[in-house]
Amino acid sequence: MDKINELQKLINESKKIVFFGGAGVSTESGIKDFRSKDGLYNMKYKWPPEMILSKSFFYENTKEFYKFYKDKLNCLDKEPNIVHNYLYKLEKEGKLTAIVTQNIDGLHQKAGNKKVYELHGSIYRNYCLRCNKFYDAEYVFNSKGEPKCKCGGLIKPDVVLYQENLDENTLEESIRLISEADLLIVAGTSLTVYPASGLIRYFRGKNLVIINRDTTDYDQIASLVINDNLKNVFEKLD
Ligand SMILES: [Zn+2]
Repeated sequence: MDKINELQKLINESKKIVFFGGAGVSTESGIKDFRSKDGLYNMKYKWPPEMILSKSFFYENTKEFYKFYKDKLNCLDKEPNIVHNYLYKLEKEGKLTAIVTQNIDGLHQKAGNKKVYELHGSIYRNYCLRCNKFYDAEYVFNSKGEPKCKCGGLIKPDVVLYQENLDENTLEESIRLISEADLLIVAGTSLTVYPASGLIRYFRGKNLVIINRDTTDYDQIASLVINDNLKNVFEKLD
């Protein structure tokens, strides 16, 4: 059987699907992959992006942090692609129990999905460090210099920076949903970066599917591996 048909069959048979997505899901929407060769990590900035996007840098060099953040991580004008839209359809049909994502662009919610677990946070949530007041992404990206609260406090995006821990509730819920799934679709991630590699070990279900342009270390334990662009795969699914 052709691999796409096989995937279709697994989706049709399954009742509790969890989708685990990495940067490859967003690239089809024109968002640069942090770690690809032409991605953020090879752009010329005074510091390496891993350093700028770290907790200590945020507090010590807030102005430079926000310069980079607004320049490189603003994806407010980006739209969901065929992958997001397909997952919305699966959730509406009651087959998809959750999306666990490493992306911070909010595109799954923009596509309509409700059960989205954002391991690395979201650019859409921002809080004052002094009074905890909520600010939307427009406020932060449109602010001049460092975004400040009305109380004078500094606003911080709810994005997990280097040196910061993942949100415990998000992580626990993701583990629970993955362990209860009958089909786990891992897509657009090389599974080399924490916590992706650790999380799929909790899967106890029948079928693990990996869809990624390159091979991964987990291909051997998968029921089905498709090495292709996500768009090529998802546009063929019903
Ligand atoms: Zn405040």
